[in-house]
Amino acid sequence: MTVNRIRVVVLGSPRSGKSAVVVRYLTKRYIGEYSSTGDFLYQHRVAFDGAVSEVEILDTSNCAIRGCIGDHVRWGDAFAIVYSVCERRSFLAAAEILSLLVRSRLPGCAAITLLGNKRDLEHAREVHAEEGQELSLRFGCQFYEVSAAESCAGAALAFHALLREARALALLLPAPRRKLAAYSVSKVIGTIFGKNSKSVRKKRPSLSI
Ligand code: GDP
Ligand code: MG
Repeated sequence: MTVNRIRVVVLGSPRSGKSAVVVRYLTKRYIGEYSSTGDFLYQHRVAFDGAVSEVEILDTSNCAIRGCIGDHVRWGDAFAIVYSVCERRSFLAAAEILSLLVRSRLPGCAAITLLGNKRDLEHAREVHAEEGQELSLRFGCQFYEVSAAESCAGAALAFHALLREARALALLLPAPRRKLAAYSVSKVIGTIFGKNSKSVRKKRPSLSI
């Protein structure tokens, strides 16, 4: 059995739904409010295409303020850049992160997906799906519109595709790993559920792809 390690960094503006998307993917649950203090590191094993991967997912917070994005970029093998389709500012921030990623990494050396979250809030939409598509084409990355609130299908599909690409890249380009010094992260899914721990589940599945 082959086991490889994939480090995924989740980046994006505050309140775009990074934690909601990650928790949806890992637990299939949607909680509603998530702790926003500090980064969270999750570890899990996934098996697909006849091999096993040890996946570490770093759910970041306030990178722009703390200026740690460069460290994250060096640490990760794969990146999920989240914006809210209801907030143009978060889309512009996602474009900046993509541009930083492309500047800091060798072209084609990282798996990247762009996630337009909150697609259930159609009435409040500020960013069209076509704009997300165009941005992803510009940077040669994957793109999905998802709703962490409505469905686990979108987050699952997006993460699986990202992991598949990261694994393929690891096989093609066995790059040396750079460790991040003094990296402090909080852990354990149980502790991340913030103010309101009531589960909010909605039935209608939704995915715009
Ligand atoms: P983060 O700061 O990027 O980690 O964002 P959070 O995951 O903490 O989410 C910020 C807010 O957006 C919370 O109130 C979430 O309940 C809400 N939220 C996250 N994803 C969705 C979604 O898909 N749809 C809706 N309507 N709200 C969402
Ligand atoms: Mg968060």
